Amino acid sequence: MSAASSILLSNGTVLLHDEEDHVTPVRADILIIGNKIAEIAPSISPPSPSPDAVDIDCTGKIISPGFVDTHHHLWQTQLKGRHADDLLLDYMYKGNIVFSLFKPEDVFWGQLGGCMEAIDGGTTMVVDHAHINHSADHSESALSATVASGIRSYFCYCPVPQTRAASWAPFKFETSSSSVPDWAATQLADLAAKQPFGNGRVRLGVGFDAYYLPQDVVISIFQNARSAGVKLFTSHYVRNALMGQHSLVNLLDSYGLLKDDILLSHANQALPEDAIQLIAEHAHVSSTPDTELQMAHGAPVCFRPDLHKIASLGVDCHSNNSGDMLTQMRLALQSARGTRNQQFVARGKQPRTVHPTAEQAFNLGTIMGARAVGMGAEIGSLRVGKLADLVIFDGESPGMVCAAAHDPVAAIVLHASVRDIETVIVDGRIRKFGGKLCAVEVENATEVGWPEVAAKLLHSRRRLQEMIETADMDGAREGIIKLFHIDPNNIVEHVA
Ligand SMILES: [Zn+2]
Repeated sequence: MSAASSILLSNGTVLLHDEEDHVTPVRADILIIGNKIAEIAPSISPPSPSPDAVDIDCTGKIISPGFVDTHHHLWQTQLKGRHADDLLLDYMYKGNIVFSLFKPEDVFWGQLGGCMEAIDGGTTMVVDHAHINHSADHSESALSATVASGIRSYFCYCPVPQTRAASWAPFKFETSSSSVPDWAATQLADLAAKQPFGNGRVRLGVGFDAYYLPQDVVISIFQNARSAGVKLFTSHYVRNALMGQHSLVNLLDSYGLLKDDILLSHANQALPEDAIQLIAEHAHVSSTPDTELQMAHGAPVCFRPDLHKIASLGVDCHSNNSGDMLTQMRLALQSARGTRNQQFVARGKQPRTVHPTAEQAFNLGTIMGARAVGMGAEIGSLRVGKLADLVIFDGESPGMVCAAAHDPVAAIVLHASVRDIETVIVDGRIRKFGGKLCAVEVENATEVGWPEVAAKLLHSRRRLQEMIETADMDGAREGIIKLFHIDPNNIVEHVA
């Protein structure tokens, strides 16, 4: 949909955060001018007539802040559906390393599909750990798809590319990169100088997992990027038998790199001293309940008392699970409740109260996500002067009716599905309307709608699948075990 000079949302139930993050539903109008929320009031008169002003009747609708997804690999769309019964090791050799087979064109459609699925589900801001950095062209394709989609994003460029397959049958990895390749250093510096992209929507971050490199190399990568203006650094951190028991927080601290621009995805089994250090430096974590619960990362930490304050939520792999934040809020909430309740049940007792609350889950998906990316003053709640990132739910759908009238936050966290999301506005632009994704503008100002994107994705998937079927996947599994120094004795069928 083309840009409107103003958008008036009339008579909706607006979810407003107060200073303590308590959410109150208020019957109100919202006026959007340009890319900002200009006014929230009981009754707003339409601004002076303009042919491109939009007025949306929101009677019976809930208007929520857009969701903030703080950990996602947006390129993986063609790999959807292949990890239903997989663990982390299986995901790495069956899915993630297939990135070596992606051409820049596959990346473009995969990334666009990932962004559009996110928007469809009400995500307006996403931290993309963009580890599809096979070549400069691959990252260029990924970034241009993000810009085209209309989503707001931190595009976290990976200056040390993942190790690629050199041959698939027999399977062999290339030698791991011992530093930042020249082309990646040049591209990172170039993107840092040119950012932001897409009228300010897309900022450059850094995705970094190459902590095996010498200390001075790691430090210089962070220092160079910080001096070039990069404001967000994201790394995977999982402490378990597969990924190792070391403390990444301690390493970052000992290198002098732990600051408020650090966002660690997962942090399962983070040490108590990790939590103390992360909170002291105002760093943040992103829990991704779907992948963490399935793939044996460990329990999600987003409601852990020592980490909750700096937590947020992410989708991680839409190749493995749905790309919407409704699912992540609900899974995080109910798994935390289940774990707590079981402690009472196992002792022959019943809890007096349920904990955590639906509102806490909602906040993890909105305002706390915004703070995790250093944008708490700009997005994550509905307030005059903030950027216009909003989601409009149909409060009278079969799923939400009555729940929305009684408790709109509960309706979103426990009753809503992507189907109930009628309209999504990012940066003052309508990207989903009437329950359907709007067309996006790709190269040469060509507009493509979702059916065309789906056709491109299916074509690309077929090509990739034909190559995957001839690959030596047992060899790939062994290759991953060696590359990550995994002790096979720790992978067992039963525990006593
Ligand atoms: Zn990840």
